[in-house]
This record gives sequence, C-alpha cells and structure tokens, in this order.
Amino acid sequence: MEHVDPRRRIPRTDDLLALPAVGAARKRLSEGVIRDLVRQAQGQARRGELAPDQVEPVLLAAVAARTATTLRPVLNATGVVIHTNLGRAPLSACAVEALIAASGYVDVELDLATGSRSRRGAGARAALLAACPAAEDALVVNNGAAALVLATTALAAGREVVVSRGELVEIGAGFRLPDLIESTGARLHEVGTTNRTHLRDYANALGPDTGCVLKVHPSNFRVDGFTSAVPLGELSPLTAAHGVALVADLGSGLLAPDPHLPEEPDAATALANGADVVIASGDKLLGGPQAGLLLGRAEIITRLSRHPLARALRADKLALAALEATVAGGPSPVVRALHADAGQLRRRTDKLAQALGVPVVSHDGRVGGGGAPGVPLPGWALRLPEGLAGHLRTGDPAVLPRVHDGSCLIDLRCVPPLDDERILDAVRQALATLGVADAGKAG
Ligand SMILES: *Cc1c(COP(=O)(O)O)cnc(C)c1O
Repeated sequence: MEHVDPRRRIPRTDDLLALPAVGAARKRLSEGVIRDLVRQAQGQARRGELAPDQVEPVLLAAVAARTATTLRPVLNATGVVIHTNLGRAPLSACAVEALIAASGYVDVELDLATGSRSRRGAGARAALLAACPAAEDALVVNNGAAALVLATTALAAGREVVVSRGELVEIGAGFRLPDLIESTGARLHEVGTTNRTHLRDYANALGPDTGCVLKVHPSNFRVDGFTSAVPLGELSPLTAAHGVALVADLGSGLLAPDPHLPEEPDAATALANGADVVIASGDKLLGGPQAGLLLGRAEIITRLSRHPLARALRADKLALAALEATVAGGPSPVVRALHADAGQLRRRTDKLAQALGVPVVSHDGRVGGGGAPGVPLPGWALRLPEGLAGHLRTGDPAVLPRVHDGSCLIDLRCVPPLDDERILDAVRQALATLGVADAGKAG
C-alpha cells in the first residue's frame, strides 16, 4: 500500500477558516488572532504532536477558549487586600457601572447645557472635594508616581527638594522615590539621618534654592527603636515662614482617618496639619482605579494643572468615572475586606472546611500594596497541601492561595461571599487533579 505522508492530511487553512464556529468567532476575535490559532493547530500536527484528524476539534476548542483579552479574573484567597500582582484594588459595583457608562461617548470635557468645553474630570474633582473638605482644590493624574513627578517638576525643577534621609524609600519592583524625583530635574537635598531627623535639620536646609519640602510616608516598612521624624504639624510653620510649599506623599490614599488603621496617614489630617499639597494613589486604600490624587491649596493645584506636564500625566475618562463612583458610592471591596466581620469570616471558612474535610487555621491577612505593614488582619484559612497551589492558580476559576510554611492556605477575606461556592469547586477540582498526579507519580 502506498504510504501517504500524514502531514498531507492536515486540513488546509482555507477549510479551517471556513468552519462555521470559526466564522462566528470573528465577532469577538480579530482575523489575526483567529489565523494565529489556525496556524498553531496546524503547527502541532506538522510537528507530529497532533493527529491530522484532531486539528479541527483542537482548533475549535482553542477558538472557544480564546477571549479578546488574555487577562484572567483571579479569586484572591491570599488575605492580602491590596495585591499589586492582582491589580491592586478590585472595583466596587458602582465603579464598574460608571466604567461601562463612560466607555462610549461621554461628557468628560463638555458642558451639555451650554455646548461649550468644560473642565476635564469635574465630577471626580467635586466628589473628592466633598469627601475631603479640607482641600481647596483637587487634580487627578495617572497614578501616585505621576502626581509626585508633577508636583516636584512644577515646584522644584532646577531647584531643591528637601527630604529626610529616613523617607527616601523604594516602593516596590525597583521604584525608588529619589530616582523618580531626580529624573524631574530637581535636586535632592537630603536632611537628617536614616533613623532621626529633627526640625533644625529642615531649618538649616531651607534657602533661596528650595523648591519644596517633601514628606513621604514610608508605606511599606517601619523603623523601630531610636528614631524621630518631624510631623507635618511641626514642619508646616517653618515652611510657611519661608514661603516654601510643603508636599506630603501619603501613598495610601485615605481621605479621612480610618480607626482600624491608626498609623495610616490621611489627606484631611495632613491638610489640617499644614501640608500645602497631599499626594495619594487611587487604587490603594481608597479602593478605586489606578489614579494619582493631588489635593490641597487652590493656588498650587492650579499651578500644577497648568504645567505642560499635566497634559502628559492626565487621567483617562474611565479612571475619572471609576474614581468619582468609588468616592461617591457605597463601601468599596477594599473597605469591606479590611473591615470584614470576624464571625462571618469564620462561618464561611468553617462551611467550606466541613464540605472539604480539611482543617481551619488562624491566619492574619494584610493590607498589602505597601500599606500599613505592621497591621495584621486577624482571620482564618483553610489548610490544604502545598502541592495544590499550582493547580488552583491554573484552574478555572483561577484561585491565588497563600503558600506558607509548607501549606496552601485559602483566606476568604478578599473573596466576595457569593464566590464561596466557586472556591469550593476550584479546590475540589484541584484536589482531583492532584490525586491523579500523585497516583501517576506513585505508579
Ligand atoms: C504607592 C506609593 C507611591 C506610588 O503610587 P502609584 O499610584 O503606585 O504610582 C508613591 N509614594 C508612596 C509613599 C507610595 O506608597
């Protein structure tokens, strides 16, 4: 019998592209993505990884599974509320609605009554000022780092930013505040030492070359022991006497004090203590979209908003919409997770533990996102075998557990209660996969 090269039986591109299910996928996927999936399936067959008659079903499965975005929703079972690798704050239902509403044409820079151009992001600004009356004005930019760049550029480019050596921090993934500030053309004038800085250190540094004085909240670490720093309330009379702007980078984004996080700074208190401008992130404790908030004295905010750089750093309409809805709407998922009721957490955890036959251990959640490093959020976790973690991450839904001390821990603090059943399913699936894998190893 004549031997036919099986590769000649691989379905042709045109035939695969003409399949009805592939045609229907053109509504949700680009031609390029579809052709790529076709090439991948054919390539597998060409390399002998797939029988030619399997190309079509494998392609159909790949087309069905492919979505236009490769970002996958993840159930956060780590107990870390603001998880940078998971996109920081999950948005509230109000913010999601606002995002959808703003996704089309929207009056972000138009006064519908007069038909003339309006101030961009007026709604977000009004919501921020209502939530933080101590601020005379507010400006929203792309993120906290952008807010810092704008403030130091506009106030101190070519001049000095006076800052304590104890506050020259690295925030995460190599983001170092001193590098960022120097990239703006401002010079750092470091004062004090790593552990102690006094008012006289600032007083000695102030001079004709001072552009601003910067106070940075060392969000992600604490210095204990022989330390001292100058609080805003003691520094502000000095900067005011010299006519120099006092900028406070709070990091976290609390607009008002939160009794659960007594050491976390907030905008209202910082402004009351004499800061001229405060800087904060939108997607940390505020629980909103990525954004940088600048709140403070009207004259300085106006100066910042008129700086040419402001245009390069401006927030997009989606962020403005979600930020306004976060500030004006009900409690965000971040706030809910931080203040989760201990009894309810325990009952939810017990219920899953019983269904799965696994132990419950006490487990401290964290604020995360470089915030409130010393503050534990006491709660509980399901304790599972460590080997489960990878299966949970790659399962459907994807679940990110905490791997600690040889265990895989599931903390429900950051899981919406409606998703408990999905966690249960995901763990069952992962246990089944792990069982099969173990059996394979044993055999
Ligand atoms: C997080 C943080 C920033 C950076 O804010 P992003 O919104 O991440 O750009 C700046 N300063 C401090 C103190 C921070 O904690």
